[in-house]
Amino acid sequence: MSIETERLYYQDCYLRDFHARITGTADDGRRVYLDRTAFYPTSGGQPFDAGTLGGAKVIDVIDEEERIAHVLETPLSAAQVETPLSEAQVEGHVDWERRFGHMQQHTGQHLLSAVLEELFAIPTLSFHMGSEVSTIEVRAAALDTGQIERVEERCAEIVSEARPVVVTFDQASDDLGLRKASQRSGTLRVVSIAGIDRSACGGTHVRSTAEIGPVLIRKLDKIRGNVRLEFVCGLRALRQARADFRTLLEISRHLSTPIERTPDLVAAQVERIRLLEKSNQRLATEVARREGRERWTATEPGADGIRRVTEPGPIDDAMRVRAQAFAAQGHAVFIAVSENPPAVLLAASSDSGVHAGERLRAAVTAAGGRGGGNQALAQGSVPSTADLKGVLARL
Ligand SMILES: [Zn+2]
Repeated sequence: MSIETERLYYQDCYLRDFHARITGTADDGRRVYLDRTAFYPTSGGQPFDAGTLGGAKVIDVIDEEERIAHVLETPLSAAQVETPLSEAQVEGHVDWERRFGHMQQHTGQHLLSAVLEELFAIPTLSFHMGSEVSTIEVRAAALDTGQIERVEERCAEIVSEARPVVVTFDQASDDLGLRKASQRSGTLRVVSIAGIDRSACGGTHVRSTAEIGPVLIRKLDKIRGNVRLEFVCGLRALRQARADFRTLLEISRHLSTPIERTPDLVAAQVERIRLLEKSNQRLATEVARREGRERWTATEPGADGIRRVTEPGPIDDAMRVRAQAFAAQGHAVFIAVSENPPAVLLAASSDSGVHAGERLRAAVTAAGGRGGGNQALAQGSVPSTADLKGVLARL
């Protein structure tokens, strides 16, 4: 019969140092159960608390319903584990910076969801708190910039009013006035923000909206026909805003322009690059065409009057243009060979007596490769570089 763990954070979210009795251990002292704990286990969208237990680092806290398992980086000492369990006392210390950050994000989420309800009757469907940012999914097809600004400013207003955030334990019933009906029965832990929100929640929260600090909405994503809203609160919001500002400052320095002019300048530069790429492409094609023609002029015809060349290099757009320009001069056959990946290209003029597609397909198929094309131009690949020699001999 295991002893249930008393959750000290239910009554006092500000408790960070505590004593407890060990009620069980597992995994050679790496998994520890206590009669009471201030460590919050991963649940309800909120990550677990870090800290130390009996001097060992806490690396995970798991909710096992009746009990809470504390997973330690190093096992408790033999002395700690061997002491009769009823007498074994340990000291726990919760990493306060991490926990308080979670309290700010979590209470900020209640406020944000309540304001979305209040202003636009948009309900929150789910909540996830990450190590950097948190998200809520809300039932709305879209949210515009104006709405987001109103939500942020209403949150700021309620933060500045320092409204009390109170935890009560109430019997589950339909008239509790909860923002979102609870599926649970029996006693519910209800977290209320004076005048705006009542939610059944087992998480950790700050005691006043003032402690939430800034609430900053960052990104909106469409997901499953709803909107997923990314946000940060408190110190995270300050740090994020600072990081964003530094990024922007760096961009403005690279562009040698004031921050407020960077969006227009970046848009103009992107358009300029697009036009340059287009013109560059046109010039590259023109150069390849000339190269093909010049190559034809510089090549002596064979005894049958056909000019033949074999050129190494990547088989790309430029190579195709060069090959076609060469063949277009008449009585001409152009072969290109690439080693990596092993591939060949064949271009033939209509008066050369060579059907590029048929000739090439036969040559690469015989070498275990594949390829094809039309009378004038064909391309194919073979399994390895060693196969290229045989293909060239057949072409
Ligand atoms: Zn909560």
